[in-house]
Amino acid sequence: MRVPIFDQDVAPPSRPSKPLFTTKIVPASYGYSWAVKKGQRFRVIDTHGQQVVDFMAWTRSGKKCNLHEKVSMAYTRYHLSGATPAIGECLWTNADEPLLKITQDTVKVHDMTFMSCFPELYAKKGIKGHRSCASNIAEAMEKWGMKSYLEIADPFNIFQNTPYYSLKPLNPSKAGDYIEFEALGDCVCAVSCCPYDIEGFNGGIITDIAVVMEGDGTLDDVDNSTTEWIEYVDGRPDWSEETRKEYRALRDFSL
Ligand SMILES: [Zn+2]
Repeated sequence: MRVPIFDQDVAPPSRPSKPLFTTKIVPASYGYSWAVKKGQRFRVIDTHGQQVVDFMAWTRSGKKCNLHEKVSMAYTRYHLSGATPAIGECLWTNADEPLLKITQDTVKVHDMTFMSCFPELYAKKGIKGHRSCASNIAEAMEKWGMKSYLEIADPFNIFQNTPYYSLKPLNPSKAGDYIEFEALGDCVCAVSCCPYDIEGFNGGIITDIAVVMEGDGTLDDVDNSTTEWIEYVDGRPDWSEETRKEYRALRDFSL
């Protein structure tokens, strides 16, 4: 019997003619983490508008996330000579390496100053047990070995509006706005859909966000896969017009 020679006798595995894009909808007030390969791009999308997304990233060696080597806001500010990154600029790690390049950005307003909201912040305001970005990220990072929310990094607060380092409740992002990154090395990324639902922040109501990833195989619990970047112009693509109207009514952009 002749042993087949792969290249000549066996058809190569079928591949989609266009790159695959997978989407994970991160539920309002929850977090999510996923692996990214060097060269892959992904988008973090505000599907409804005015939703802050706390973002962090760590370097990765195969299946091991290097929890000590992470994107650092201080290192990034140093390399940018300020804040925040423009398209083509990078988020840098505490090992002084660029890890994620901003490749597109429809908002261009983000925060590199404030910490993630955390359990005691809510407890001190009398709302004990409220979800927080710090615990969301720690929960999402458990599978990568994180044990406590005290291990998280300072966040890159996507879509958060802090002019002159002052915290403002009104965020500029509208439904469908996004920021796109390209990984310059293998990494693990995590997001928290900020659950701060008091004092008018996050549009006064917390909503889902979407992570759309270029290429197959690095998102868990995928909600959608397409051969193009999926657009979220006004809420989720599967929404009825009635649902869109309800959400529009909840948003008052004239605040
Ligand atoms: Zn938060």
